[in-house]
Amino acid sequence: MRRPIIAGNWKMNKTQDEARTLVEGLKNVLKTVDDVDIVVCPPFTSLEQVARVIEGTNIQLGAQDVHWEDTGAYTGEIAPLMLKDLGCQYIIVGHSERRIYFGETNESVNKKAKAVLKYNLTPIICVGERLEQREAAQTFTVIEDQLKGAVQDIGPEEIKRIVIAYEPVWAIGTGRTATPQQAQEAQNFIRNLLKKLYNEEVANSVRIQYGGSVKPENIADLMVEEDVDGALVGGASLKLESFIKIVKGAK
Ligand code: PEP
Repeated sequence: MRRPIIAGNWKMNKTQDEARTLVEGLKNVLKTVDDVDIVVCPPFTSLEQVARVIEGTNIQLGAQDVHWEDTGAYTGEIAPLMLKDLGCQYIIVGHSERRIYFGETNESVNKKAKAVLKYNLTPIICVGERLEQREAAQTFTVIEDQLKGAVQDIGPEEIKRIVIAYEPVWAIGTGRTATPQQAQEAQNFIRNLLKKLYNEEVANSVRIQYGGSVKPENIADLMVEEDVDGALVGGASLKLESFIKIVKGAK
C-alpha cells in the first residue's frame, strides 16, 4: 500500500508573512491527519520561515528547484545541501514551467534528481505532455522520453525513493483537469515503464502524483484510481481552505 502524498507548489507567490500565516493555519487544522504525507513547497525566500512554523509537525518542507552542483560559481542558484540545511525533504525537479520558461532539459532534470538523491532528499520528478502532443497521440512517447531521461543511471534502490508527478501541461493552471481515467491511463503507463526499466518491486513502491488543476471538488475522484497516489497542487495550495480540503479528500 503506497502512502498518499499531497504537495503544494506555491510557485512565485507569498511574502514571508503571508507564508507564515498560511502554514500556521494548515498546521493547526491538519495536525490530526496521520495517513497522508503533507508537503509544502514555498519559494526559496520563505523556506526558513515556514521551516520554523512546521518544525515538529506532520507537514514537511519542499523546494521548487535546485542546482545539481554542490558549490561553485553559479550566480543565483541554490545547492541541495543548502536546501537540506533549511529542513527541506523534497525538491521538485523538471516542473513544466521550468522546462518551458527556463530551458530545463531531460539532461538537467537527471542531474538534479541525482544530486537530490545524493543528499538523501526526495526529488518530485515532473513529467507530462503539452496539448498539441496529446492531440497528436504522442502522450506516451513524451512521458517515456522524459522519464527515461530523468532516471538515467539511477539505481533501483535509489529510484524507490523518488516521487513522480504526472502533470499534463494543458491541465496546469487552466482549470481543465484531466479526467480520472486520463490520469490513470498515463500513470499506469508510467508504472509499467518503471517495471520495464527496473522491476516490479520498484514499480509498486514509487509514488505517482497527478498534477493539473486539482481542487477540493476533484481530488476524491482522482484518488480512487489505482495508480494515483497523491497530487501536486498549484493554485489551490495557496488558499488555506482549499488545501485543507484536498489533503482531507485524499485519504
Ligand atoms: C503545478 O504547478 O504543479 C500545478 C499542478 O498547478 P495547478 O494546480 O495550478 O494547475
